Amino acid sequence: MKFMLKVVAFMLLGTTLAFAKPTIYILATGGTIAGSGSGELSTAYTSGTVTVDKLIAAVPQINEIATIKGEQISQIGSQEMNNEVWLKLAKRVNELLTSGKADGVVITHGTDTMEETAYFLNLVVKSDKPIVMVGAMRNSGSLSADGPLNLFNAVNVAISKDSVNKGVMVVMNDEIHAAREVTKTNTTGVETFKSPNAGKIGTVFYGNVKFYMAPLRKHTASSEFDITKITELPRVDILYSHANDNADFANIAIKNGTKGIISAGMGNGNPFPTVLEALGEGVKKGVVVVRDSRVGSGETTLNGEVDDAKYGFLASDNLNAQKARVLLMLALTKTMDKAKIQELFLTH
Ligand code: ASP
Repeated sequence: MKFMLKVVAFMLLGTTLAFAKPTIYILATGGTIAGSGSGELSTAYTSGTVTVDKLIAAVPQINEIATIKGEQISQIGSQEMNNEVWLKLAKRVNELLTSGKADGVVITHGTDTMEETAYFLNLVVKSDKPIVMVGAMRNSGSLSADGPLNLFNAVNVAISKDSVNKGVMVVMNDEIHAAREVTKTNTTGVETFKSPNAGKIGTVFYGNVKFYMAPLRKHTASSEFDITKITELPRVDILYSHANDNADFANIAIKNGTKGIISAGMGNGNPFPTVLEALGEGVKKGVVVVRDSRVGSGETTLNGEVDDAKYGFLASDNLNAQKARVLLMLALTKTMDKAKIQELFLTH
């Protein structure tokens, strides 16, 4: 009799475990997904007005597949994103995932700087559990708002076993992109997110998740960065090059104490001649200069038309300028050694 009771107890426990839903935290930061306007066809709207509870309530289907918990981290348009929110968000994601409170995290975010936040988290979160970023191009009151289905898909990616150890992902418009590769390419279209150098890593169609590729550069648990004790990040600026450019912005950034400059040069990272010389002077004053390109895809190669060895410049590999800025900021929290920083650009 005792034996039979034990068997039944084990069976009940097994069934409970089999049906235990994963716990997914939705951390909301604002953006168009939480935006509202003056009508279904109105182009004017304000980002970050709808609370996380309302975002969750708009997609009741996610409660069937996961135990959902919501937290409001910030309520801003992502053009206002800043180091303070990044550090707060990263520390909270780390805490939720490493403590075991969450099986995965979904972050709702504006699309303007989503790629930067994604890459920042990709470098500093110490967990291989799924971390999914999601947004919308149409605000919550728009005709055919894309936020609810994007959120449903994001939660499905966050609960998928296949999402483990893929680093931070961006889920929008039925596609899954890796944080290092993804960039916003269209100002208004729902198909805005692309990964120009590598392609998307998967798709998610009404919750059906499929992966085709995995990121190989160091990320999350294998990344060399740790922000546990960091409360501030160093200043790093981006300089955008163009024909008939001048060195004013380079000089002022250096004069105002920037620690690093990402030069978004022309073509294979070529700055205008006067800017090139100003950047070289910056290096002599201790500023770390990384050459990048304004082109949007492809590698910026060391010692191409620019003599990097002579000027003491580094090159960004194939990161776009806004992501190179994130990596250089984090690199400068660890070291000023240029060979080491170049290595970080080739491995992360
Ligand atoms: N400006 C908005 C933001 O990034 C745009 C969006 O979310 O699509 O917050």
